[in-house]
Order: sequence, then C-alpha cells, then structure tokens
Amino acid sequence: MNAPAKDLDAPRNAPLRNDWTREEIAALFALPFPELIFRAQSIHRRNFDPTQIQVSTLLSVKTGGCPEDCGYCSQSAHNPTGLKASKLMEVDAVLAEAKKAKDAGAGRFCMGAAWRNPKDKDLDAVCAMVEGVKALGMETCVTLGMLTGTQAQRLKQAGLDYYNHNLDTSPEFYPQIISTRTYQDRLDTLDEVRKAGIQVCCGGIIGMGEEASDRVGLIHALATLPVHPESVPINGLVHIAGTPAAQGQRLDPIDFIRTIAVARITMPNSMVRLSAGREEMSEEAQALCFLAGANSIFYGEKLLTTPNPDADSDQALFAKLGMSSMQVRHEST
Ligand code: SF4
Repeated sequence: MNAPAKDLDAPRNAPLRNDWTREEIAALFALPFPELIFRAQSIHRRNFDPTQIQVSTLLSVKTGGCPEDCGYCSQSAHNPTGLKASKLMEVDAVLAEAKKAKDAGAGRFCMGAAWRNPKDKDLDAVCAMVEGVKALGMETCVTLGMLTGTQAQRLKQAGLDYYNHNLDTSPEFYPQIISTRTYQDRLDTLDEVRKAGIQVCCGGIIGMGEEASDRVGLIHALATLPVHPESVPINGLVHIAGTPAAQGQRLDPIDFIRTIAVARITMPNSMVRLSAGREEMSEEAQALCFLAGANSIFYGEKLLTTPNPDADSDQALFAKLGMSSMQVRHEST
C-alpha cells in the first residue's frame, strides 16, 4: 500500500506536520525501496542542499560508571564491559579538544557526560565548557541525562545551542532496554529543554532486537513531538561485548536506510544525523543514507566510547561523492 502523496506535493514552506499517524508511517516504511528513496530525496532537496553534510564532533567529558541500565551502553555500571570510569574533564582540556575539532572542520562540538542527571556543581563546569566552546565560534551541544527546568535555563544562559536526549526506541519496546527511567521521564526532560529555548537533538537506536513496528513507533514518537527535534540522530546499534543488546542479530542495512528515509519525510526540516554504527557500514550504505536524506554525521575516531571512521576517510568519502561539509548554521523548525 502506498502512503498518500501529500508529503511530496507540499510546497517548500508548508507547515510541518506533527499529526502523523502510525498507519501513515508504517505505510512509508512499506513503500518499495526506489519509491521511498525518491520521495525522501525529493523532500530533502526541497529543504537542503543535498551535497552538504553538517559535521559534529562528540567528546565524552565524563566517561563510565553511569547508574542507568541502558542495555546498549558501554558506560552503564550495570553492564560488565570493562570500561574504566573517569571523572569530569577539566574545562581547559575540553576546550583544547574543541579547538582541534574546529581545525578538523567540525562546526558543532557535542559534549557527553555519563550521568543519570547532573549535580548543580557539575553544571557549573559544563556551563564554563559551553561558554568556552561558543567563544571558539562553534555550535554547542551537551548530553547530560535528565534535567530540571532550572538546570535547562542555566544551560541556556551559558549559551547552549542544543541538548541531546534520545527517545531510543518505541514506547512499547523501551522497557526491554532500560528499566531505571521511563519514556515519560525522557519526554519531560525534552519539554524542559524546549521551554528553556534550547534546540533539541533527539533520535534513537536501530538494531536492538526491536520489531519493525518499533521503528514505526520511534519515528512516530519523534515526528509527533509538539515541535520536531532540530537534529534527529539515527544510530545503528554498536555491538559491545558485555551489553545485553549485543546478543541480538545484526541489523539489515536496508532497514537502517529505510528508517533514515522515513525520518526525512516526516521531519523535513530537521537535520537527520547518521550517528553511531557508521564504522560498521560500507561506503555504499552510507551513500544511500545520504540519498535517503541524512545530512549530518559525527566526525572523530570515537563516539563516546565506540569506534567511528576517522576524519580522513570521511573526507575521502565526501570527495568521492562530490559532497562537502556544511558551514555552521542555526536550524529552526
Ligand atoms: S546511555 Fe547514557 S544514561 Fe544510559 S547508561 Fe549510557 S551514559 Fe548512562
């Protein structure tokens, strides 16, 4: 069954929809692959230059020892992955890494801390990091776990551009992946971030043993938020020994590419980021992701604790595809 073509026929500046039904999203996933990619690419080039890729760098500023039990994560204290926990990095050391990332072509610097939620004294240091990275002329993003409204406002005052907080999967599958917090906890933090006026980076992980209907449920949850996330990272599960999710089957790259395409169609103005799992993807699969509407990647040899293609191989791929990095821009929906 083909989905209604109204998404294709919409003019460039048509109001964004956040009334998608699960049935509509399931119908998009079920389209013949060439039809799905054509629709996604058509919408993509209406809103973006299809040759430009936004590049972000992610640094773990506080690694491991996290009290949460996310079944995919090497940093959870519940998962015997052998990862050594470290303290929060010094501000100067973080700024030195940001400078290196800028010199390598990154426009956005993302900082991740393995916390359930930040303590107020830790937030002082994170705010200093945000101010320092902004002073370098880069966009800033942090991911620190759950936030109160007051904490979100402090980050906004420090100049934070984006807050990353992923929904991970569908509401139905979520309890099989994480038990230490609820889907509603995630939605509440996203709400506080929005209320503080910070842009939202929110996506999920594909390949954790979910059903196809859970991929529908994830995209539905993202595309029906009151405002679409400005950045939508779509991660492929990285199989890390010691994590419960690693026992599942490898993801079919076609399912991953379909998820990118449906994210592009349902959230046409968002930056759709090809995130974790890229190291395990062929160049051909990455090229198909770009064709399906992905227009953002992470640069750097590591994504928090998992391997990522190095900057040189990314530049070589961009050159081969005739694509290039996007200059810093501020997105809005
Ligand atoms: S994903 Fe984040 S919250 Fe979950 S265990 Fe890892 S660091 Fe902690």
